[in-house]
Amino acid sequence: MAADCIFCKIASGALPAMVVFEDADAMAFLDIAPLAPGHTLLIPKKHYRRITDMTAPTVSALSAHLPRLAAAVVSETNASGLNILQNNGEVSGQSVDHVHFHLIPRTEGDGLGYRWNAGRYASGQAEALLTRIRTALS
Ligand code: AMP
Ligand code: ZN
Repeated sequence: MAADCIFCKIASGALPAMVVFEDADAMAFLDIAPLAPGHTLLIPKKHYRRITDMTAPTVSALSAHLPRLAAAVVSETNASGLNILQNNGEVSGQSVDHVHFHLIPRTEGDGLGYRWNAGRYASGQAEALLTRIRTALS
């Protein structure tokens, strides 16, 4: 548990939350400032700041809850779709430094959106990045 982490406090029960699901390692609760009714957060109970701080098995165990949780959130909000969002770092929009997945129910005309400013690679840029990322993974 990290001192001054609100999600650690929620995970330990020190802070109240609208908990929709809980097991030994994970918890899901309603976002206090929802983008849409039913906006839910899924967290590991253990403190990790970024997804890159987690191991593959811990990410697997956490994300394994997503399909069932997503289905319940969609069906009980009568949503037509769902965004799953996971921010890492302040520049990405992460405001709580404890890993969490957002489950955001979507409905036609809800006004939510994401600035998807699709770009283009400069000549050779994609190939250079491809090589670098593949090498980092090897
Ligand atoms: P992010 O910007 O990705 O770090 O998302 C953090 C989310 O946590 C925001 O959507 C907040 O509304 C939500 N949040 C912050 N404090 C609480 C809280 N005490 N209970 C539930 N949700 C919270
Ligand atoms: Zn924490």
